[in-house]
Amino acid sequence: MPRPDFPKTLPEFQRRFPDESACRAYLVASRWPEGYCCPRYGHSEVFDLPRRHLMQCKACGLQTSVTAGTVFHRTRTPLTYWFWAAYLMATQTPGMSALQLQRQLGLNRYETVWTMLHKLRRAMVAPNREPLRGIIEVDETYIGGPEHGKRGRGAGGKALVVGAVEDRGETAGRVRLQLISNSTRAILTAFVEANVEHGATIKTDGLDGYEALDKKHYCHRPRIQGSGERTTIWLPHIHRVFSNLKTWLRGTHHGVDPKHLQAYLGEFVFRYNRRRTPMVAFQTLLGLGSHLGPTTYYQLYRSESTG
Ligand SMILES: [Zn+2]
Repeated sequence: MPRPDFPKTLPEFQRRFPDESACRAYLVASRWPEGYCCPRYGHSEVFDLPRRHLMQCKACGLQTSVTAGTVFHRTRTPLTYWFWAAYLMATQTPGMSALQLQRQLGLNRYETVWTMLHKLRRAMVAPNREPLRGIIEVDETYIGGPEHGKRGRGAGGKALVVGAVEDRGETAGRVRLQLISNSTRAILTAFVEANVEHGATIKTDGLDGYEALDKKHYCHRPRIQGSGERTTIWLPHIHRVFSNLKTWLRGTHHGVDPKHLQAYLGEFVFRYNRRRTPMVAFQTLLGLGSHLGPTTYYQLYRSESTG
């Protein structure tokens, strides 16, 4: 059996996953792309026990959970809702608030939706992320308050975010974003070191917080600051990322409390880095990623899709 492909549009998605059994069949096909294989003896014939999301081996009776390792293991919320939520979170630009999702799903209980989103967001944290490499643009921006905030004085009440993005010529590669307390050398250098491979070329503006990069294992290319416009020409990709980020925060969430901002940055980065591989995003959110077979789309796009 070939591994399941991924619906490209919302109507296609709805046709594909109309009910619980369609969702369960997708889980089974994702987990056993070559067909069911009993973990104990390798038997291949099973009974389906749909109410408990179990498969039972016809030969030896071993029961295997279809949902083990997924975000919805042991929850009572229907699989169709989980699939919907993960699809919308994985693909929709710009994202989804709990309230929007509640409306989309037609659910009465806000708590149910909130819990689902919370679990899906936790699945967005990728622990072993590959460092950025190649040519990297690094810059900071203020979130909240007036659009053109100043550095240092005049920035009160706003949150400072530093970002790095791979410059692949016409297009941007992967991105990282982090909430920071100030733009000192120690903090900016630590951010770069935590996210960018040694040997990379780092493009920044002339802020002296970046000066220490010269002495690290990077090729640092600062541009002494002129007008904001000139900085945008020098660092186009990171400025576009910041602009998209702000539009999303304003539009979807109507501004964000600084204490929740890092979580939203994580969500933005997750989706941005998988924008060309929605199936990977969808399966990662559901917790299916690690079960995939060897000859797949997943590995094909792996270098682009990690973290
Ligand atoms: Zn068996």
